[in-house]
Parts: sequence; C-alpha cells; structure tokens
Amino acid sequence: MFPGIGGEEIRGLSGAIVVRRVLWVKGKIVKNIGVVVNGALGRMGQEVTRAVAREAELKLVGAVDKEVFQQSLPLADVSYIVPLSDDIDSLLEQCAPDVLVDFTNAEVCLATARIAAKRHINLVIGTTGIAEESVAEIAEMCRTYKIGAMIAPNFSLGAALLIHLSQIAARFFDCAEILEMHHNRKIDAPSGTSIATAKAMLQAHGKPFTYPDLGEEVVRGTRGGQLGGIAIHSQRLPGFMAGQEVVFSEMGETLKLRHEAISRECYMPGVVLAIKEVVKHQELIYGLDALLALE
Ligand code: NAD
Repeated sequence: MFPGIGGEEIRGLSGAIVVRRVLWVKGKIVKNIGVVVNGALGRMGQEVTRAVAREAELKLVGAVDKEVFQQSLPLADVSYIVPLSDDIDSLLEQCAPDVLVDFTNAEVCLATARIAAKRHINLVIGTTGIAEESVAEIAEMCRTYKIGAMIAPNFSLGAALLIHLSQIAARFFDCAEILEMHHNRKIDAPSGTSIATAKAMLQAHGKPFTYPDLGEEVVRGTRGGQLGGIAIHSQRLPGFMAGQEVVFSEMGETLKLRHEAISRECYMPGVVLAIKEVVKHQELIYGLDALLALE
C-alpha cells in the first residue's frame, strides 16, 4: 500500500482493512487528515464543518448528528458529498476518519469517544462539562488504543491567553473572582473555561484564595459558586455569546482581565490546530494552551 510513503493499515471492527489517510514523510503530513464532526448540525458543529472544509490539509469525510433528515451535509464550497448520519458507528466504519471532532454534550461525547477510540480514531473534544472521571477515562483510551486526544474547554486564542495571564496574576493576589457570561441556551454552569481558569489559578497560587465570609446570603446564590476560594458567577443572557472576566484584588487595588468572543469563528484556528496536532500524539492533551508554547 502506498509504496515509498508508508501508509498505516488498521483493521476496522467489521474486519475490513481501513486505510488511514495520515501519511508521513520525514515527519511531515503529506496527505489530508480525514475528519468526521459529531454534533455537525449544532451551532459549533456547523462552524467546524465549514472550517474543516476550507482547510487544505484537512478533509471533511463525514458528519453526525441526532435525528438527521438527509443523507449528506449541505455545504457551500464543497464539491464532493459529505455523508451525514445519526448512526456514528456505521458512519465511522464507512468513512474511516483520522480524527473525530465532538461538539455535542458531555454524555454523548463520552459515549462517542468510547466508540471512536475502539476504532483507533484520534479525538478532538470541544464539548464542555466533561467530568474528571471521564477525562481520566479518555486518557486511558489513549494508552489502550494508542491514539491522541485533545480536550479543550475553550478553543479561542484570547481565552487561552486569559487563562495564562490569570495564572501569572494568581501568584501575586490573594483574592479573586470570576464572572463568566454566555448565551442563554448554554446548558452547563459554570462554564468549562471558568473551571479551567480557576484550577490554573489555584495551581499557580499554591493554596486556596481568601474568600470573604459574609455570613448570611439574603438572596440565595448571590455570591455565586466557589472553587478553592474563588467565587464564580455565571450570567446567561440572549445578548451574549461567550466571555469571561477575572478580577484580582488586594487592599486598595483591583486588576481585571477580560475576554469576549463575539463570533464562533474565534474558535476555528484552535480547532484546526488541534486536529493537525492530535494525529502526532498518543496521549491526552488538555487545553489549547498546551499547543501554544506559552511561557
Ligand atoms: P448545540 O446545542 O448548538 O449543538 C449540539 C449538537 O449536538 C446539536 O446539533 C445536537 O443535535 C447534537 N447532538 C445531541 N445529541 C447527539 C447525539 N446523540 N449524537 C449526535 N449529535 C448529537 O450546542 P453548541 O453551542 O454547538 O455547543 C456544543 C458544545 O460545545 C457544548 O458543550 C458547548 O459548551 C461547547 N462549546 C465549546 C467551545 C470550545 O471552544 N471548546 C466553544 C463553544 C461551545
């Protein structure tokens, strides 16, 4: 197969030989990376299918969503047919992608990861609200099936930098709160990004932050949730897309770091980078910052 280039052959679950598209010559990818998007008809899924279709090194080979009413994905600028199905297992058998991208919900995502991993398909997961046990299970899948997986609660560059800068500030301030704002159809709270930010800040701070104990909360929940002394407040309003403000404070001063995503396009460079990188790994990579060489 592919004499002189060295393609990789694996056996699909049905026993048929599946040819993986990623081919390497001197450490460089020389053929398209085949991608299937799960949750393809959702807000993020639609953006991702368009971004993958535009990218020269990638090929959108299939799409999955629940309750689909047509057999192919209508996509402008794509001259070939992209199969669309609500049966992920048979679609993966048919399309044999190198990477499965998931933007669904936490429950579906884990079930999907189990199906894809058994087929030795690398994973890029943007779905948020994934429990720590599920993250650990996905890391184990990487070891068992020798695949790469990337989980990033936020694929935007600005958000990755916000987390990084918050980590730096966390070394110097003892009080901090996070205000995160999202559209009103977001199903999980607080956001995966705010949790990741708080955890990164706690790691840099080395101990819990000081949380002012005010005694009684006259209206329950007014002080938000709390992670290691960092109060997290979630706003859900139709006018927002996604944003986050981290406020640090010491006596007599505050420092505010704020990021706002104004369109879902901001996530696409991160998703595309993750797809290109994940095929080079056989482990779980957590967070876009891991790919950005931030110091
Ligand atoms: P959405 O509701 O618009 O899309 C979810 C899609 O998943 C829908 O089309 C739905 O039909 C589909 N789906 C549900 N069950 C399914 C199943 N069993 N099989 C296949 N498809 C199924 O939501 P969204 O706004 O696109 O967000 C999706 C996820 O991505 C959420 O967890 C959200 O928090 C997350 N998100 C992550 C980032 C990031 O940068 N990592 C950015 C934005 C949103």
